[in-house]
Amino acid sequence: MINAPETPYLIKPNSGFKVNQAVTIPTEGIGLNKSLLKKELKKLRKEIGELQHRLFAEDKNALLLVFQAMDAAGKDSTIRAVLSGVNPAGCHVSSFKKPSAEELDHDYLWRSAIRLPERGRIGVFNRSYYEETLVVRVHPNYLNYQRLVDLPDTLSEKSLKSFWGERFESINDHEKHLTRNGTVIIKFWLNVSKDEQKKRFLSRLNEPEKYWKFDSGDLKERALWDDYMHAYEQMLNATSTNHAPWYAIPADNKLFMRVEVARTIVATLKAMNPQFPDVDKDELAKFNEMRGLLNHE
Ligand code: ATP
Ligand code: MG
Repeated sequence: MINAPETPYLIKPNSGFKVNQAVTIPTEGIGLNKSLLKKELKKLRKEIGELQHRLFAEDKNALLLVFQAMDAAGKDSTIRAVLSGVNPAGCHVSSFKKPSAEELDHDYLWRSAIRLPERGRIGVFNRSYYEETLVVRVHPNYLNYQRLVDLPDTLSEKSLKSFWGERFESINDHEKHLTRNGTVIIKFWLNVSKDEQKKRFLSRLNEPEKYWKFDSGDLKERALWDDYMHAYEQMLNATSTNHAPWYAIPADNKLFMRVEVARTIVATLKAMNPQFPDVDKDELAKFNEMRGLLNHE
């Protein structure tokens, strides 16, 4: 297990994290200087590529990146911008939408468990099992489709309090198990403000080449903003742990957000310190022999 890199945006366990006090624009570091941010992102992307090369060669640990956010926060574009320097063979992105009939036939961790990264790989979850404590908490009637045992008769916030507590416990246990077995986990909440979301929705509605990004259901979820923030606050406090920390990344400036995500990934990969595998003496002797054979071919 590695120590979670300390950045200004790390949510420390038991720190009483308040969603409405978390900044959506940066307060520290290189701020919003566009050319500095671009330069920094380029450098970090290269570093991620090099570290991933080592991770792949070592073939021992995996890195799992979890992304959660309100709509239009920029999950997709951040994933693309941050990971465009990695070897595609060593990286896999999974997006989680409304569960299918097959997925509902299993417990809620199943569909992501089968998409966990193999050793040596970087796995990205674009949304995740955390939706089970976010969108499902905001719409508790979704639980009716899950055919659960021990569901209370009324699905109110009050009657479900211990139910969510149990989900957090299961998730923390699951993540602990994964980290004990070689999967390092870091989690990003891309914290976009309600005003910025409005601007981005309007630009999707105003620019024909962005129409495809607009989903009419998004406005219904926006109307439930406060319920979502309540669910996020409960979830972030309960599941930001030493073994699988959450980072609350200011998301109103896309370039800054990408740099901060990339920086956190680099710090984590550096802490993992992946090494090219050692070659033992016998093997080295064989290599020397083969070099000789090839040179005299
Ligand atoms: P985009 O930014 O392109 O809109 P997206 O991640 O929002 O990407 P969508 O297909 O629009 O992708 O939405 C996926 C939807 O599925 C989200 O509204 C999310 O809340 C919902 N979802 C994900 N997991 C679950 C779940 N376990 N139960 C119910 N709904 C879920
Ligand atoms: Mg969407």
